[in-house]
Amino acid sequence: MRLRSPFYTENLGTDQPYNSLMLLCPHCDFTCPGCQNVHLAKEPLTDFSIEELADLIASQLICDEGLTIGGLEFTKSGEGFIQELARLCESASVKNLTIYTREEIDHDYIVEAIKVLKPVVDHLYIKTGRYIAGAPSKLVTLGDFQITLASDNQNYAEIN
Ligand code: SF4
Repeated sequence: MRLRSPFYTENLGTDQPYNSLMLLCPHCDFTCPGCQNVHLAKEPLTDFSIEELADLIASQLICDEGLTIGGLEFTKSGEGFIQELARLCESASVKNLTIYTREEIDHDYIVEAIKVLKPVVDHLYIKTGRYIAGAPSKLVTLGDFQITLASDNQNYAEIN
Protein backbone atom coordinates (compact mmCIF):
# COMPACT_ATOMS: atom_id res chain seq x y z
CA MET A 1 0.00 0.00 0.00
CA ARG A 2 1.68 3.23 -1.18
CA LEU A 3 1.58 5.93 1.53
CA ARG A 4 3.52 8.84 2.98
CA SER A 5 4.84 8.78 6.58
CA PRO A 6 2.16 7.40 8.97
CA PHE A 7 2.04 9.14 12.37
CA TYR A 8 0.04 8.85 15.59
CA THR A 9 -2.20 11.77 16.56
CA GLU A 10 -4.29 12.33 19.69
CA ASN A 11 -7.92 13.40 19.54
CA LEU A 12 -7.81 17.07 20.45
CA GLY A 13 -11.51 17.64 19.75
CA THR A 14 -10.77 18.41 16.13
CA ASP A 15 -11.04 16.36 12.96
CA GLN A 16 -11.92 12.94 14.42
CA PRO A 17 -13.55 11.67 17.64
CA TYR A 18 -10.76 9.24 18.56
CA ASN A 19 -6.99 8.96 18.84
CA SER A 20 -5.72 7.90 15.49
CA LEU A 21 -2.97 6.59 13.30
CA MET A 22 -2.87 9.06 10.40
CA LEU A 23 -2.07 7.53 7.01
CA LEU A 24 -1.11 10.12 4.41
CA CYS A 25 -2.41 9.54 0.88
CA PRO A 26 0.25 9.38 -1.83
CA HIS A 27 -0.97 11.93 -4.37
CA CYS A 28 -3.07 14.94 -5.22
CA ASP A 29 -3.26 16.61 -8.62
CA PHE A 30 -5.80 19.28 -7.67
CA THR A 31 -4.33 22.73 -7.34
CA CYS A 32 -6.45 24.42 -4.67
CA PRO A 33 -5.28 27.96 -3.93
CA GLY A 34 -3.56 28.14 -0.53
CA CYS A 35 -3.31 24.33 -0.20
CA GLN A 36 -2.28 23.46 3.37
CA ASN A 37 -0.82 20.10 2.33
CA VAL A 38 1.95 21.10 -0.06
CA HIS A 39 4.58 20.03 2.50
CA LEU A 40 3.03 16.55 2.71
CA ALA A 41 3.99 15.88 -0.90
CA LYS A 42 7.63 16.07 0.26
CA GLU A 43 7.17 13.26 2.81
CA PRO A 44 8.78 9.99 1.73
CA LEU A 45 6.60 7.77 -0.45
CA THR A 46 6.80 4.19 0.79
CA ASP A 47 5.28 0.88 -0.31
CA PHE A 48 4.07 -0.81 2.89
CA SER A 49 2.82 -4.37 3.01
CA ILE A 50 -0.53 -4.93 4.71
CA GLU A 51 1.37 -6.95 7.33
CA GLU A 52 3.75 -4.05 8.10
CA LEU A 53 0.87 -1.64 8.54
CA ALA A 54 -1.11 -4.12 10.63
CA ASP A 55 1.94 -4.48 12.92
CA LEU A 56 2.19 -0.69 13.17
CA ILE A 57 -1.50 -0.47 14.08
CA ALA A 58 -1.12 -3.22 16.70
CA SER A 59 1.86 -1.44 18.26
CA GLN A 60 0.32 2.05 18.30
CA LEU A 61 -3.44 1.80 18.71
CA ILE A 62 -5.63 0.56 21.54
CA CYS A 63 -9.11 -0.83 21.10
CA ASP A 64 -11.24 2.31 20.78
CA GLU A 65 -8.83 4.17 18.51
CA GLY A 66 -8.67 4.04 14.72
CA LEU A 67 -7.27 5.15 11.40
CA THR A 68 -7.52 8.47 9.61
CA ILE A 69 -6.80 8.66 5.90
CA GLY A 70 -5.67 12.23 5.41
CA GLY A 71 -4.02 14.63 2.97
CA LEU A 72 -3.04 14.59 0.25
CA GLU A 73 -6.33 13.48 -1.43
CA PHE A 74 -8.07 10.16 -0.82
CA THR A 75 -9.83 10.10 -4.20
CA LYS A 76 -6.48 10.47 -6.01
CA SER A 77 -4.78 7.55 -4.29
CA GLY A 78 -4.65 5.29 -7.33
CA GLU A 79 -6.21 2.08 -8.50
CA GLY A 80 -6.73 -0.55 -5.82
CA PHE A 81 -6.22 1.80 -2.87
CA ILE A 82 -9.73 1.30 -1.45
CA GLN A 83 -9.42 -2.48 -1.67
CA GLU A 84 -6.00 -2.42 0.02
CA LEU A 85 -7.38 -0.19 2.76
CA ALA A 86 -10.26 -2.62 3.31
CA ARG A 87 -7.84 -5.54 3.55
CA LEU A 88 -5.81 -3.58 6.09
CA CYS A 89 -8.86 -2.69 8.20
CA GLU A 90 -10.00 -6.29 8.19
CA SER A 91 -6.59 -7.75 8.92
CA ALA A 92 -5.87 -5.26 11.75
CA SER A 93 -9.46 -5.32 13.14
CA VAL A 94 -9.74 -1.54 12.77
CA LYS A 95 -12.95 -0.30 14.42
CA ASN A 96 -12.94 3.40 13.47
CA LEU A 97 -11.98 4.82 10.09
CA THR A 98 -12.14 8.43 8.92
CA ILE A 99 -11.52 9.56 5.34
CA TYR A 100 -10.76 13.17 4.51
CA THR A 101 -11.68 14.39 1.08
CA ARG A 102 -12.46 17.69 -0.63
CA GLU A 103 -15.81 19.39 -1.21
CA GLU A 104 -16.10 18.37 -4.85
CA ILE A 105 -16.26 14.66 -4.11
CA ASP A 106 -15.73 12.19 -6.92
CA HIS A 107 -19.17 10.68 -6.32
CA ASP A 108 -18.52 7.28 -7.93
CA TYR A 109 -15.23 6.85 -6.06
CA ILE A 110 -16.87 7.62 -2.70
CA VAL A 111 -19.84 5.32 -3.38
CA GLU A 112 -17.37 2.53 -4.15
CA ALA A 113 -15.32 3.36 -1.04
CA ILE A 114 -18.39 3.17 1.21
CA LYS A 115 -19.47 -0.13 -0.34
CA VAL A 116 -16.05 -1.69 0.23
CA LEU A 117 -15.07 -0.12 3.58
CA LYS A 118 -18.30 -0.01 5.59
CA PRO A 119 -18.53 -3.82 6.02
CA VAL A 120 -15.02 -4.03 7.53
CA VAL A 121 -15.21 -1.28 10.21
CA ASP A 122 -17.71 -0.53 12.98
CA HIS A 123 -17.67 3.22 12.34
CA LEU A 124 -16.89 4.87 9.00
CA TYR A 125 -16.67 8.66 8.96
CA ILE A 126 -16.18 10.98 6.01
CA LYS A 127 -14.92 14.50 6.47
CA THR A 128 -15.30 16.75 3.44
CA GLY A 129 -14.02 20.20 2.67
CA ARG A 130 -10.55 21.67 2.52
CA TYR A 131 -9.28 24.14 5.07
CA ILE A 132 -9.96 27.76 4.16
CA ALA A 133 -7.71 30.21 5.98
CA GLY A 134 -9.70 32.91 7.76
CA ALA A 135 -13.04 31.08 7.66
CA PRO A 136 -14.77 30.63 11.03
CA SER A 137 -14.55 27.21 12.69
CA LYS A 138 -17.61 24.97 13.04
CA LEU A 139 -18.78 22.65 15.84
CA VAL A 140 -20.42 19.38 14.74
CA THR A 141 -22.05 16.73 16.92
CA LEU A 142 -21.72 13.04 16.11
CA GLY A 143 -23.53 10.87 18.64
CA ASP A 144 -21.76 11.52 21.97
CA PHE A 145 -18.88 13.40 20.32
CA GLN A 146 -18.40 17.03 19.52
CA ILE A 147 -15.75 17.98 16.98
CA THR A 148 -14.52 21.42 15.99
CA LEU A 149 -13.83 21.67 12.28
CA ALA A 150 -11.27 24.22 11.22
CA SER A 151 -13.44 26.05 8.70
CA ASP A 152 -17.20 26.26 8.31
CA ASN A 153 -17.33 24.92 4.74
CA GLN A 154 -16.30 21.52 6.13
CA ASN A 155 -18.66 18.69 7.04
CA TYR A 156 -18.29 15.45 8.96
CA ALA A 157 -20.66 12.49 8.87
CA GLU A 158 -20.82 8.92 10.07
CA ILE A 159 -21.89 6.56 7.30
CA ASN A 160 -24.50 4.13 8.59
S1 SF4 B 1 -7.38 18.73 -2.68
FE1 SF4 B 1 -6.38 19.08 -0.68
S2 SF4 B 1 -4.26 18.40 -0.97
FE2 SF4 B 1 -5.15 18.65 -2.99
S3 SF4 B 1 -4.52 20.71 -3.64
FE3 SF4 B 1 -6.58 20.82 -2.71
S4 SF4 B 1 -6.23 21.32 -0.55
FE4 SF4 B 1 -4.29 20.59 -1.42
